[in-house]
Amino acid sequence: MAYVSGKEMIQRAWENGYSIGAFSAHNAETIRAILKGAQEEQAPIMIQVGQKVISVMGLQEMKDMIDTFMRDITAPVCIHLDHSRQFEQTMAAARAGFHSLMFDGSGYAFEDNVRITKAVADVAHALGVGCEGEIGKIGGTEDDITVDEADAMITTVEEAQEFASRTTVDYLAISVGTAHGVYKSEPKLAFERIKEIKEIVKKPLVLHGGSGVPDEQVQEAIRLGVAKVNVDTELRQAFTYGVQEIWAKDPEEFVLATSMGRGEEVMKEKVIEKIRIFGSSGKAADFK
Ligand code: 13P
Repeated sequence: MAYVSGKEMIQRAWENGYSIGAFSAHNAETIRAILKGAQEEQAPIMIQVGQKVISVMGLQEMKDMIDTFMRDITAPVCIHLDHSRQFEQTMAAARAGFHSLMFDGSGYAFEDNVRITKAVADVAHALGVGCEGEIGKIGGTEDDITVDEADAMITTVEEAQEFASRTTVDYLAISVGTAHGVYKSEPKLAFERIKEIKEIVKKPLVLHGGSGVPDEQVQEAIRLGVAKVNVDTELRQAFTYGVQEIWAKDPEEFVLATSMGRGEEVMKEKVIEKIRIFGSSGKAADFK
């Protein structure tokens, strides 16, 4: 097992100019796809447990399942709680042994977001794990929560600075033109804003909604200060295409190991593709 605190993992990536892929897991096969991709590339990665899978499978159950599949993995891995909107849940994840906690108070009033995120950060720091906060609303739908595109807004430098310094988060999710889910038209990231925020805030930045963003834009964002890129939709698509490929050939293929196994394989290839785009291939060496 090679677990690493989110704080250490993201900081190291940030200092060395690459990004950690934060990949969402949904079941045993997607956990394996992510861990095997990391292992093959010898890349540090985050495996994210989000709100949907917590409601279906359970937080402790996901943690236990990841632990099981970690047995033969030597690449550095961090288990991250994604988009928690309840303080209690962030504490449950801390107790379960997660290495990184995100409290997403972007739907709260600014002061409430600051207050709760700071409380999560205090516990995270006492335990030596990483903490992520979010300022500015990221558009799209995730885990049953929809932020209207018109409602999504670009994070201002002032709010990012005040939020980051008051909450003491280790890495900061900002809204700079991405959205969760499938894009209706090609996203255009607000590079100038990423640069301004990085210069003032001086902390690693997190890009949510990493699926469907052109590779060059993601790489430019990493060059400007992003050190964690979240990817979910494209991985779920890859898994689903793999399963569909089997069932297209034979709708009566009832051996789940065959259909799910193909899903896992196709998703693993997507994980590897993203790791290479983010520049984290071979970076396990940074954690020796
Ligand atoms: P996508 O589903 O758009 O890749 O977004 C993932 C994400 O940001 C998880 O927090």
